[in-house]
Amino acid sequence: SHPVHARIEGAIVIIGFGSIGMGVLPLIERHFEYDASRLTVIDPDPDMANWLRQRQINHLNLGLTRENYREVLGGLFGQGPGFCVNVSVDVASLDVMRFCREIGVLYIDTVVEPWAGFYFETEDNAARTNYALRQAVRDEKAAHPGGSTAVSCCGANPGMVSWFVKEALLRLAADTGRQVADPTTREGWARLMQALGVKGLHIAERDTQARARPKPRGTFVNTWSVEGFIAEGFQPAELGWGTFEPWFPENAHRFEAGCRSAIWLERPGAITRVHTWCPTPGPQFGFLVTHNEAISISDYYTVGDPGSPEFRPTCHYAYHPCDEAILSLHEMFGGGRKQARQEILTADEITEGGDELGVLLFGHERNALWYGSRLSNEEARRLAPLQNATGLQVASAIIAGMVWALENPLAGIVETDEMDHARCLEIQRPYLGPVEAHYTDWTPLATRWDLFPEEHDLKEPWAFLNVLAT
Ligand code: NAD
Repeated sequence: SHPVHARIEGAIVIIGFGSIGMGVLPLIERHFEYDASRLTVIDPDPDMANWLRQRQINHLNLGLTRENYREVLGGLFGQGPGFCVNVSVDVASLDVMRFCREIGVLYIDTVVEPWAGFYFETEDNAARTNYALRQAVRDEKAAHPGGSTAVSCCGANPGMVSWFVKEALLRLAADTGRQVADPTTREGWARLMQALGVKGLHIAERDTQARARPKPRGTFVNTWSVEGFIAEGFQPAELGWGTFEPWFPENAHRFEAGCRSAIWLERPGAITRVHTWCPTPGPQFGFLVTHNEAISISDYYTVGDPGSPEFRPTCHYAYHPCDEAILSLHEMFGGGRKQARQEILTADEITEGGDELGVLLFGHERNALWYGSRLSNEEARRLAPLQNATGLQVASAIIAGMVWALENPLAGIVETDEMDHARCLEIQRPYLGPVEAHYTDWTPLATRWDLFPEEHDLKEPWAFLNVLAT
């Protein structure tokens, strides 16, 4: 009952076999035809090596580095073709992508990852932003247009949420009585968002997955990469900065070069709270953790000159991770050091909850629309092996991105905003549980505690001043 979407010629290399690598492998087995003797996993973790050996899956028990990646990958791919699936931490996306394009190998990742050391050893905060990481990939695209397809940042978010933005815009257009044809260009999509009166959007997520026992002290617990979450949580908070914003934060900085769609705050994202909304909790706090999609979406939907745009939406992540991760952040930031132990909750130990991940488009005539996936862990377990709800939202986006790349092998470097959202969602949809649209009349002014005065903008309910929690 699982469709085989395409054939992959040549070698397949999965770099990194953590929570996402382990989840994506069974989906690759399910949805592609390929020579299994040419699939190899690369991961330095000895426990992973043992797991892979027992299942007779080819693997290299080593870490890729700046020094060895060309030799190791060149040995596996030869002169291509093939497919490189980069779901590791500490392996630079741009270098691996560039090499794959040189030898005609298709490439996909879920984040613009730098080499080890970048997140904690770079002293200049502006250089440590996702803006800087993403811009390097955009500069590579501009310098070397076309060529072998490399899909950048195709997980759940960044990734799938960009496809949800387009679905949500079409839904909003229909629900407000507008007859619009699906736009076919970037400019067309940006003009549609502008015409609908959307001022901005949150990537609004609530992870309710929990297990029976409480969080052990001294352990960072999450539903996906602990390393990845700590790294991005310690980057400065970043957001796509909309043209409607009437206020500018005192601790914010703009960028002088590149697409100029975003700003960064002098504060780590994982302790920067924002008011947001998801269907299950209704109003909630989320963390303004930096993400590639905040920058790419605000860039993609810009109308006019990037330096002084006619329209650009505000866009940022508003993430409520699972409760154990919230406690882990509290413990880590309070204690001033990373915990010695890490755990990623597995589908089998999770006893309740799921991941509710969508886009909250705000400021238009229906006030706000949340559109997204509400996948329970129970359903995720029924749908695919070896992953919880969070992992399945990510791994299924990778499969969709791989199919799209195989169908468009000479598209050059692309982000998910630039892909055929309808085709990608068609492939991914069976793994997302209920995908729903919810309108709400909530605004960031609605849930305040009046006893302590706060600075508000009463004229512009969606102003970032009101969204940012003091
Ligand atoms: P994880 O921490 O569970 O696993 C990462 C794996 O990479 C580990 O097994 C580790 O041993 C391996 N690794 C470390 N250094 C390596 C090296 N030098 N060479 C090869 N492998 C190496 O992480 P995860 O949850 O599987 O996430 C993987 C990546 O996907 C991370 O970068 C994460 O940020 C990203 N991610 C993206 C999304 C999204 O929606 N876009 C969601 C979740 C995770």
